[in-house]
Amino acid sequence: MGIKTVYEDCDILVVGGGMGGTGAAYEARYWGRDLKIVIAEKANIDRSGAVAQGLYAINCYMGTQWGENNPEDHVRYARNDLMGLVREDLAFDMARHVDSAVHKFEEWGLPFMKSAETGRYLREGKWQIMIHGESFKPIVANAARNSADKIYNRIMVTHLLMDESKDNRVSGAVGFNVRTGDFHVFRAKAVIIGAGGASHIFKPRSVGEGMGRTWYAPWSSGSAYALSLQAGAKMTQMENRIVLARFKDGYGPVGAYFLHLKTYTQNAYGNEYETTWYEDTKAMVGEYIDHQPTPTCLRNHAFVKEVAAGRGPIHMVTKEAFQDPHLEEVGWENFLGMTVSQAVVWASQDIDPKYINPELTTSEPYVMGSHATCSGAWCSGPEDLSPDEYYWGYNRMMTVDGLFGAGDAIGGTAHAFSSGSFTEGRLAAKAAVKYIKDLRNEKFSVSDKQINDFKQTVYQPLENYQVGRNEIVSGTVSPSYLLPTQGLQRLEKCMDEYVGGISVNYMTNDKLLERGIELLDIMEEDFEHLGAEDLHQLQRAWELKHRLLTSQSVAQHTLFREETRWPGYYYRGDHMKLDDENWHVLTLSRRDPETGEWAMEKAPVYHIVD
Ligand SMILES: Cc1cc2nc3c(=O)[nH]c(=O)nc-3n(C[C@H](O)[C@H](O)[C@H](O)COP(=O)(O)OP(=O)(O)OC[C@H]3O[C@@H](n4cnc5c(N)ncnc54)[C@H](O)[C@@H]3O)c2cc1C
Repeated sequence: MGIKTVYEDCDILVVGGGMGGTGAAYEARYWGRDLKIVIAEKANIDRSGAVAQGLYAINCYMGTQWGENNPEDHVRYARNDLMGLVREDLAFDMARHVDSAVHKFEEWGLPFMKSAETGRYLREGKWQIMIHGESFKPIVANAARNSADKIYNRIMVTHLLMDESKDNRVSGAVGFNVRTGDFHVFRAKAVIIGAGGASHIFKPRSVGEGMGRTWYAPWSSGSAYALSLQAGAKMTQMENRIVLARFKDGYGPVGAYFLHLKTYTQNAYGNEYETTWYEDTKAMVGEYIDHQPTPTCLRNHAFVKEVAAGRGPIHMVTKEAFQDPHLEEVGWENFLGMTVSQAVVWASQDIDPKYINPELTTSEPYVMGSHATCSGAWCSGPEDLSPDEYYWGYNRMMTVDGLFGAGDAIGGTAHAFSSGSFTEGRLAAKAAVKYIKDLRNEKFSVSDKQINDFKQTVYQPLENYQVGRNEIVSGTVSPSYLLPTQGLQRLEKCMDEYVGGISVNYMTNDKLLERGIELLDIMEEDFEHLGAEDLHQLQRAWELKHRLLTSQSVAQHTLFREETRWPGYYYRGDHMKLDDENWHVLTLSRRDPETGEWAMEKAPVYHIVD
């Protein structure tokens, strides 16, 4: 093959330079002054990941210096929102360190809004503080740039390399440059994955001309999960997908509206509807409905039921708040710093929220470990906090030696958000440095065969296209290959219909899941025949393959958990109740990299905070 191979040997490889990845690079340099630290990022770290467009609020800040919250409070909050199930050791660990990360952001030039009375960060809610955050990402990228030895932008990492001298040990990664087409081989002693969450695995509400508009970043392609799964890492809570109530068509965020503008929702007939569904919800989940604040999924549940009862759409009542010129400005600015498209959609649909209450809708499901849900890799917690089952030597190390993760990549730590993901990157990097120092002079072995086999696999879609293209004279449908867009639509349709997406009102059951899993397995065979016309499509092909593996994991976990733990996120029609007796547990899976077989198990939930 006439493709150039570029080798890079380093100590720590950070895959993905988003919030977790930049935090990892920064901290790795602090502890590992003499180590070689490299970032491989598929876009450009200045504007990559979920924070690319900026944020209006940092959603996780304790404010311990002012006695506002303590880490324990945040664990209780996250546990409550997730209906009892989080990794409390990881959550506590993140919460006790997150404030220092936020202080760093300010030191590096991120403008914070401050309260005129107290001089403290301006609170939007109990956990959120408000920022002028358009440049949030370039600011943390700069810190990473000052720390890393080398940053490779435009490298789509496709696979991890495994050490051939020791079982179950990672030794780097491979990928390709999406602009030059070069094949990149990174040999590393430790790898930290910060490759973000997964959008576009379920059919989105925005299709056709709106395709690509999603709530979670459209470029979050599940790589964090797929890379870990391919290496044989255990995953946790992959069934815990998230559905969000957001402004219709633009997926604009509602947090600032609820918390700062004090807007509220009502049904199409101007009535409050959440109390209508109180008894119904109580019958499903018991006393969880009485928890304060009401878990997000249960609020979604009332929304979904109200619409299904024929009283939709649900509106956000903005007309009152927008009479105040200051709040009106905040309402618009909230989008301009974060989701410009929502302002554009409203303009295009003649919606001025001062005079019209805009519609909300519930989104398609997404999978992530840093926002309000906690899917991701099963990892070790910190030495001083974690019970035996949660601890195997190095904080945030997965069940594969030398493989660490942060942010969306790591399971069990909901409500970390931007600041918490950056913090997790720091924690993972500190542990990775210790891991490398403990290795001393141990040698790694990665054969040319392993590298060349990956090279062959990575570029196969280009080959498929070139050969198959000869069989057709025009159009896009070939008997020999499938284009990435076609494959993506097939995947989204399957996940939507069988695994609980929007068209079935988030409903699934054992039979649907079993069939869905069969169809996903067939897709895995078919995706061997993906055809990529150019490097851009080659990236799409690999993103699709990563999304498929993520989807398989979601389907397996959803089948395993025989209860409806999070109504409003999804429903198991054959087990319509929350079942604390049997399922107050974390779900774990491992996909055997050799056979593709999935092994499922339960892990205990330890409540380390009262
Ligand atoms: C719409 C939206 C609104 C949000 N609002 C807020 C908010 O108001 N406040 C808040 O605090 N948080 C908010 N968040 C959450 C926050 O953005 C995430 O929690 C955080 O970015 C997760 O960090 P991460 O490092 O896991 O992923 P990301 O920051 O998404 O970074 C992942 C990185 O990996 C790269 N990558 C992916 N795949 C590959 C691959 N195969 N090879 C190489 N590189 C790869 C990506 O390009 C990206 O740079 C919001 C997120 C979204 C999407």
